[in-house]
Amino acid sequence: MGTLERLWHTAKSMVVGHAITIDEMFHRPVTVRYPEEKPPFERGSRSVPVLKVNEATGRLNCVSCGLCERSCPPGCIEIVQAVDESGRKKSWPESFHLDLSHCMVCNLCVEACPFDALEMADVVELSSYQVQDLRFDQDQLAELWKTSRSLRVADGQKL
Ligand code: SF4
Ligand code: SF4
Repeated sequence: MGTLERLWHTAKSMVVGHAITIDEMFHRPVTVRYPEEKPPFERGSRSVPVLKVNEATGRLNCVSCGLCERSCPPGCIEIVQAVDESGRKKSWPESFHLDLSHCMVCNLCVEACPFDALEMADVVELSSYQVQDLRFDQDQLAELWKTSRSLRVADGQKL
C-alpha cells in the first residue's frame, strides 16, 4: 500500500469515526444515572428467592418439605422443620434461612417447590460490606416478598 493510499484510508476512518460519534450525540442514551435513576426491570427479573405469604391467612405457603433445600446446588437454603411437644413434625418451618452470598439465582429452588411457596423478587439493592447481612431468615424473606415485585417462573412459564 502506497503512502497516498494509507493517507486516504486514515482520513476516511477519521471522518467515519467522527460521523458516528456526532450521530450518537443526538440519540437518547441507553444508560441511566444509577442510583439517582432506577433502570426499569422486566417483570420476572431475578435477584433473590423470597417466601410467598398467603394473603388470606398471613402465613407462609411453605410446608417445610425440604425440596428446595435439596435442589439448591450451592446449599444456601437451610430449613428446620417445626415439631410439636410430642415430637410430631409440623407442616411449617421452625426456621428458614437463605444465604444470598452463595446464591447463584439459578431458580432451581423455585422450580422445585410444589407448594407455590417461593418466588423470585427483583430487588437489587441488597449488597452489604458484611457478608452475614446476606443471610436472610423467613421473616425477612417474607417481607421482601411483600415489598417487591416477585414472580414464580417454572418450566419456562410465568405463574
Ligand atoms: S436460586 Fe439457586 S442457588 Fe439460589 S437458593 Fe435457589 S437453588 Fe439455591
Ligand atoms: S420446596 Fe417450597 S414448600 Fe418445600 S420447603 Fe421449599 S419453599 Fe417450603
